[in-house]
Amino acid sequence: MSDATVGIVGAGITGLALTHHLAERGVDSVAFEAEAEAGGVIRSVERDGRVLEVGPQRIRKTPGVAALVESAGLVDDLIEVEESLPLYVYADGRLREAPFDRSTFLRTDLLSWPGKLRFLAEPLTSAGDPDETAGALFERKFGTEGYRNFVGPLYGGIYGSDPAHMPARYALAGLLEREAEAGSLLTAFRQRVGGGRSFPPISFDDGMQSLPRALADAHADRVRLDTPVTAIREEGGAGTASADGRYVVETPDDAVTVDHVVVTTRGDVAAELLAPLAPSAQALRDLRRAAELRPDGTLAITMEPAQQLWVEKLRQGSGAEALERAATEVLGRSPAGISLEQTSKGNGRTEGPARPNREQALSRARQDPLVRSLFNRFGAVVLDGQPVDPEDGSDRGPQATDPA
Ligand SMILES: Cc1cc2nc3c(=O)[nH]c(=O)nc-3n(C[C@H](O)[C@H](O)[C@H](O)COP(=O)(O)OP(=O)(O)OC[C@H]3O[C@@H](n4cnc5c(N)ncnc54)[C@H](O)[C@@H]3O)c2cc1C
Repeated sequence: MSDATVGIVGAGITGLALTHHLAERGVDSVAFEAEAEAGGVIRSVERDGRVLEVGPQRIRKTPGVAALVESAGLVDDLIEVEESLPLYVYADGRLREAPFDRSTFLRTDLLSWPGKLRFLAEPLTSAGDPDETAGALFERKFGTEGYRNFVGPLYGGIYGSDPAHMPARYALAGLLEREAEAGSLLTAFRQRVGGGRSFPPISFDDGMQSLPRALADAHADRVRLDTPVTAIREEGGAGTASADGRYVVETPDDAVTVDHVVVTTRGDVAAELLAPLAPSAQALRDLRRAAELRPDGTLAITMEPAQQLWVEKLRQGSGAEALERAATEVLGRSPAGISLEQTSKGNGRTEGPARPNREQALSRARQDPLVRSLFNRFGAVVLDGQPVDPEDGSDRGPQATDPA
């Protein structure tokens, strides 16, 4: 059995950044990655000479990210997106600029006048409750329209998830703390978004996966690919902590004894791995709850250049199911810049009808007027990692309309 100070489960960006910082401090570590490649949800693929993002399209160049990029030797590959590009929300069949400043807020038709007033009444609502979902909290504080047409798409777009599936305790931890200081979630939200916006969104010439790839290469001696962790137990047997409280991390090939374990996997996997160690922890119950609620699929749609960052949400039928979309342009990407759109699908409401399976979701997305219009406009749309022709679908949707 081998030995390390820190065992890290997962080599997505969290596991890799931790690996990097531990290496910088001379702390011995080993990261176990189930897949053949590092990066987790950050995945960039090349199609027809273009870079397509399957996962996130950009990160903010915070000082921490900038330092990581420099250490990874990626400064020359960096693409900074122009900060002044507007952000759009797709609602009721049309793209509308997200109202971040007062004058856009006043003139936007993303919210009706009653919806605007309800949105601005947020400081009068009671404080956010960590036991709510982020979606329930947003709807209660900003009103149904403010949540559905503005806050929900923005927040869901960032995480590629549905706020209705995100426990506020974790998803909004920072915001709730700020709310307590600022006296209103709106002020806290504006401080956060405003603060975030002062760091430009970035990507890389070969896509977002450049960063995890470079970090995994730089620390190849600390990252074990194709090595899923099957169990974590206390040394000496389940429930029997050894004298020095060490853990055994088990993989199909071997077991490694470590002083500390950091689990960076998706919530449901983390809950499975950690359950034998802390069966009664509140965090585990929340992880399980989140895992039960998690959306059953993510579709990525990609298209060619536009001069905007887009975050969208499309309501379908009764509104019981929500499709959330986020899109961003990364200027300078091959061949003349590329704009990416992403869709994550989940139930917007718990009382909604059963979720369609992946094929049905793809078929629906293919028929979506927006997909058709993007195809007509840009000539390339990628759904679920595959270029598609919207006309391929057996049941044709309505004619495309130009979104811009
Ligand atoms: C579709 C989507 C779009 C997003 N868009 C943006 C964006 O534009 N900007 C932004 O800042 N953020 C975005 N996010 C959020 C951001 O991408 C994630 O928060 C971040 O990448 C998560 O990284 P992670 O390392 O924590 O987790 P993950 O990327 O999930 O990595 C976990 C790793 O653990 C591995 N693993 C799982 N089980 C095991 C096991 N048993 N043993 C060993 N390894 C295991 C997995 O293979 C994976 O590599 C987006 C997220 C998604 C899903």
